[in-house]
Amino acid sequence: MPQLVIDGLRRFLVSAGMKLQSTGAIEDRYHALTAHREKIAAVLPEPVAKRPPSFCTGCPERPVFSALKILRQREPAIGDTHVAADIGCSTFSTQAPFNVGNSVLGYGMGLASSSAVSPLFGKRTISVMGDGGFWHNGLTNGVANAMYNRQDSVLVILDNFYAAATGQHHVPSTGTNARNEPLAMTIPAALRGLGVKWIRTVNSYRIPEVMGTLREALTTRVPGLKVIIARNECMLERQRREKPRLRQRAAAGQEVVQARFGVDPDVCTGDTRGCA
Ligand code: SF4
Repeated sequence: MPQLVIDGLRRFLVSAGMKLQSTGAIEDRYHALTAHREKIAAVLPEPVAKRPPSFCTGCPERPVFSALKILRQREPAIGDTHVAADIGCSTFSTQAPFNVGNSVLGYGMGLASSSAVSPLFGKRTISVMGDGGFWHNGLTNGVANAMYNRQDSVLVILDNFYAAATGQHHVPSTGTNARNEPLAMTIPAALRGLGVKWIRTVNSYRIPEVMGTLREALTTRVPGLKVIIARNECMLERQRREKPRLRQRAAAGQEVVQARFGVDPDVCTGDTRGCA
């Protein structure tokens, strides 16, 4: 598909007779963008096997859905409930091997949709929201609606510091805006502003911790909305930053040590964006 778009753009720009760019410059750019295709064809003469879309390796959202699945399997009386999923990377949870997510209504709409489903269940439901969905609309149509209607359910916010699925766009809790100006907007502060009192922040890589917090949220006698914020940086973005740094250190003959894997939500370091 990108090849079709690039080729179409090239033909359009050449036929349009642009004054600012010579035909030669457009052709050079086209070849620079597509030269790798010949190398790929030489290395991979056969099409690679199709594989279903899934989370990136090391994605911080994976272990959260592992925790949800394990809790459902080991403690069905607690963990086997309706899960309203979200749009974004987290939608991969609805596929194998997780198969977690009974419904998907729209971006940031999990909690709003479960407000209609919850009363039909004899137990609390779980809604999933990415941080992008939370800031996009989930804060109002999900959280404000749940608080207004005294919805007794559990919301899991996957805070990976960006709107990751669309290209790691900055969101209010990234810590900086699109101009890289620092911000102090946080998800817990926004939740508290709407009156949410039961808020827990967990390290998404610590499966037992996530399971324990889920169990507590699903069984506590405290009524109303319970929010679990599972935090850790999108691994794709993290590696885009880490790999060049490690390569530089290796080239300089310095010790190469991957920065601490995962963010401890209790310890806000300079590498931790959007700390509460
Ligand atoms: S882009 Fe980031 S958040 Fe999305 S699947 Fe990959 S690592 Fe996970």
